[in-house]
Amino acid sequence: MALIVQKFGGTSVGDADRIQAVADHIARTVRKGDQVVAVVSAMGKTTDNLIRLANDVSKTHPGREMDMLLTAGERISMALLCMALADRGVAAASFTGSQAGIITDTDHTKAKILDIRPDRLFEALEAGKVPVVAGFQGVSTERDVTTLGRGGSDTTAVALAAALKAQLCEIYTDVPGVFTADPRVVPNARKISKISFEEMLELAASGGRVLALRSVEFARNFSVPLQVRSSFTWEPGTSVQEEDETMEQAVVSAISHDTSEAKVTITGVPDKPGIAARVFREIANRNVNVDMIVQNVSHGGTTDISFTVPQIDLSAALSVTQEIASEVGAGTAYADSGIGRVSLIGAGMKSHPGITATMFETMAKGGINIEMISTSAIRISCVVRQEDVEDAVRLLHEAFEL
Ligand code: ADP
Ligand code: ASP
Ligand code: MG
Repeated sequence: MALIVQKFGGTSVGDADRIQAVADHIARTVRKGDQVVAVVSAMGKTTDNLIRLANDVSKTHPGREMDMLLTAGERISMALLCMALADRGVAAASFTGSQAGIITDTDHTKAKILDIRPDRLFEALEAGKVPVVAGFQGVSTERDVTTLGRGGSDTTAVALAAALKAQLCEIYTDVPGVFTADPRVVPNARKISKISFEEMLELAASGGRVLALRSVEFARNFSVPLQVRSSFTWEPGTSVQEEDETMEQAVVSAISHDTSEAKVTITGVPDKPGIAARVFREIANRNVNVDMIVQNVSHGGTTDISFTVPQIDLSAALSVTQEIASEVGAGTAYADSGIGRVSLIGAGMKSHPGITATMFETMAKGGINIEMISTSAIRISCVVRQEDVEDAVRLLHEAFEL
């Protein structure tokens, strides 16, 4: 008998029929003799709709109230799924993040899990029940309800799998696994049967939203065996695991893209020690993650600095940057929301020179201008115009014969 955490994303519980199909699958797993802890997302576009409603009602939407609102979405799914399980003779009990013992910090709308005290889940399992946990939420050290950032139900699932010492964490979604590119953009993208934690981390960090970044960090840090599968076909999916010799040794494994960031530029920055440190310290103090950074060669003692931040943090990042720009005697600070990022990911890139050249040549042939570049040992990312992103993904997918 194994303990399996099964997570079902928004499309997987998108309507009554989908919830019935998920209940059937859990019932099948339980009848096979395994124990299941289910984690659910909000139905379909519920979270988007709640955010829209908040924007219609308020300009400020305080984080605490935003979280109270958004956690309602997952509550609906968990209760409905338990009802569908009851019809199938499967005893189940729903738990909010707080009831499941998910303790987070106080950073509303993007809280981090600090601890998990899953006593109630263990009690439910012992009583022969399937605990159904609302994903994406927890309770803060100040006892307020929090959410974990978009896509956070993946993180709930993997963190619970680690805390419960589950044998497996299955992420059920609307595609049959992790592909060589987003199958919605590249229809002939290929399913990857096994991918290493390192490659999956880079993929998740650079826009491949099939798994939330923090869920992959948890899986790697706690060695949680992770599978990404379809809740439509139930076929075997992608295994995310430690690198081993049975994996494809591709030079480039996948192409990802991301249109959720914006670029901030400060012009005329005095080229002397300490200025960049001040700018980025102030931004960090506002809990904004800066991603790519470029600084130009200085001309006449001043330089330009550009960096990217998540669109949702843009107004905070821009206002602090404008404040600091005037304090340090720089020119202006302005934002550009029309950017996107395309990335190549592959563990084999470390030992293969020339990948960058092929990437740039491919973009040049497609008439796509590169605005910023950043690299890690196993990733190369380029910032381009947002309208060029999907073409760039398709051209690169073809050029690298994925
Ligand atoms: P869920 O609601 O189940 O969490 P998401 O929408 O968050 O689902 O993630 C699944 C989506 O991720 C897919 O529908 C697909 O469009 C997108 N995606 C992006 N990159 C990839 C990739 N490399 N492989 C598979 N899916 C990807
Ligand atoms: N419902 C949340 C979202 O849409 C969390 C999730 O689906 O993982 O982001
Ligand atoms: Mg998701």
